Amino acid sequence: MEEEKKYPNIMLTGDRPTGRLHIGHYVGSLKRRVELQNQGGFDEMYIMIADTQALTDNAGNIAKVRDNVIEVALDYLACGIDPSKVTIFVQSRIPELFEFTCYFMDLVTLSRLERNPTVKAELGMRGFGESIPVGFLTYPISQASDILAFGTTIVPAGEDQMPMVEQAQEIAHKFNSLYGEVFPEPKIMLPETAVARRLCGTDGKAKMSKSLGNAIYLSDDAKTVEKAVMSMFTDPTHLNVSDPGHTEGNPVFIYLEAFATDEHFAKYLPEYPNLEALEEHYRRGGLGDVTVKRFLVKVLNDVLEPIRQRRHEFEKDIASVYRILEEGTAKAREAAAKIAFRARRAMGINYFEDKKHIEKQQKAFNRAHEQETKLAEYLAKQKK
Ligand code: ATP
Ligand code: MG
Repeated sequence: MEEEKKYPNIMLTGDRPTGRLHIGHYVGSLKRRVELQNQGGFDEMYIMIADTQALTDNAGNIAKVRDNVIEVALDYLACGIDPSKVTIFVQSRIPELFEFTCYFMDLVTLSRLERNPTVKAELGMRGFGESIPVGFLTYPISQASDILAFGTTIVPAGEDQMPMVEQAQEIAHKFNSLYGEVFPEPKIMLPETAVARRLCGTDGKAKMSKSLGNAIYLSDDAKTVEKAVMSMFTDPTHLNVSDPGHTEGNPVFIYLEAFATDEHFAKYLPEYPNLEALEEHYRRGGLGDVTVKRFLVKVLNDVLEPIRQRRHEFEKDIASVYRILEEGTAKAREAAAKIAFRARRAMGINYFEDKKHIEKQQKAFNRAHEQETKLAEYLAKQKK
């Protein structure tokens, strides 16, 4: 409680520019960001395009990272992020973040890094074998820098980010106890529902991810969404319409849980009042996958259409979107520089600014010289 009083309320979150953003990002984080922005409860809000982090597993594919910075920015604006309320910035252009990463690397052990469950899972997925880039293994430290460099108190993110925020908390705690209180210990803000915390992929895999090719993108057109949904994985035991089906672990029903409202039912499938009624029929048997999928297509296109339209507007003036990023980055840099100043002061490595320390050292040198002179005088006297 004391923490909340002592520190301003600051939100930071971000995304890797490894592809356009998908509906997993939307339910897991983006929707929440827009709500938080509109509620206005934060003193400062930051959204970071994590290009440095994207390079940790894409060093040989700069074009992918470079080209997706604008795509991610467009997705933010399309979802309703307002740059006058939220500072959108590019990670690699804030030198203080690299500085923090170096200091924090000394506060974390290798075995602690290797225990990070998200990194472990990602290492498996990326198939690095024995050739793990050092930057990839250490990205949780770099991410702790992103969080702590702005004095962040709240990180709205999906479940996969829990170990990262825990790592940031540990680093803040260690730093504060070693050098003095500089950083609040950040907290994660998870989506309210389990499906939104980690939306599964269209292939039924545990997580929809840009890197796994199992995503429905916010900017996909209506036809692409339809194609993706109609070929989605469902319940493999539900072979005939009359067969009883499973809704649990069935991605089509998971997406409906994440997106379908009672209004969608009234509009597109009025024979069912809500999702429970649809699920009940599917479980009982007699409800075909195609009917459910067609409904899902309509629901998703309903949610995505205004996002697509706003994106098209922003796509007409790419230079001004880059200007938004440039201005946001300049503002973010000022904020990070202030905290970096405090951190250096706490660590005692603010060599040039610490006038008192300079004076103290001067006095010590003066004293030493005086003593030397006195000793020399004494010895000279003795000789006489
Ligand atoms: P990559 O495959 O490159 O890691 P990603 O799809 O995992 O991409 P990130 O940029 O790593 O996306 O994640 C950005 C944010 O979106 C994080 O807060 C993360 O928790 C959230 N997020 C990503 N995928 C999902 C998902 N399937 N469900 C819920 N939240 C998600
Ligand atoms: Mg990821």
